[in-house]
Amino acid sequence: MLTPIRCCRINSVDIKISPLVIILLAALMISNPDLSAAIMVLLGSLLVHEISHSSAAQALGLRVKDIVITPLGGMASIEGLSRHPINEAKVAAAGPLANLTIAGLCAFIDHDIANLVMIINLGIGLGNLIPIFPLDGGRILRGIFSAATNPVDATNCVGKISNYLCLVLILFGFKYGFLLYALAVSIYCFFSHKKELLSQVFATGMPPSLGFDEMLKKTFRFFVRGNTSKPEQPTDHDESLENFGGSLEEYFEDKQ
Ligand SMILES: [Zn+2]
Repeated sequence: MLTPIRCCRINSVDIKISPLVIILLAALMISNPDLSAAIMVLLGSLLVHEISHSSAAQALGLRVKDIVITPLGGMASIEGLSRHPINEAKVAAAGPLANLTIAGLCAFIDHDIANLVMIINLGIGLGNLIPIFPLDGGRILRGIFSAATNPVDATNCVGKISNYLCLVLILFGFKYGFLLYALAVSIYCFFSHKKELLSQVFATGMPPSLGFDEMLKKTFRFFVRGNTSKPEQPTDHDESLENFGGSLEEYFEDKQ
């Protein structure tokens, strides 16, 4: 019952929607018909966001399996992206860029629907640029850090920023009465970061080694001072790590 339903195919990519989304939207539209326009604009804007991700991935020669709209948002399944954080950053940037462009164009149109489209696209575009996993902002920042260093340290440092931002969210949640929601979002972000970090460690076989200040210095040198020394790039897939039974610390101690 919860298997996503295929709605259409755009640019050789299947667009699917979760039945839960249809049920939730139908319930919302029946209980409050005034929200119908906003819901339709939201769905359309999410779709534009995901199609922009998938088009950018296709332009980079990557295969896009499908796009699924779920109650948590849209998700484009792109194969072979996680091993190349710089390409991933380009693909991640395409989604918010499309929404912000639409919002910018609508700012010149004096009409209620244009205002609605502008507000919703501004929300989706700016919200996705927050530098935490699993949002696009986290992937863009990881790509920037990766260009100057390596994907493992880049992922680790984005995770640290994510943790601080979640801490701020929890403090706001405590003060303004949405603590449970803030805790749920923070736990989701924490495990998203851990999953991303483990995937990079498995792929490269190297532990994180750079502190946050070192990361900032190296990134600054790379982009501002034009340091073109080749950053450390991922090595071949390390199967010994994937098959190791202990913790990451034990694995790297064992290897030394
Ligand atoms: Zn996105």
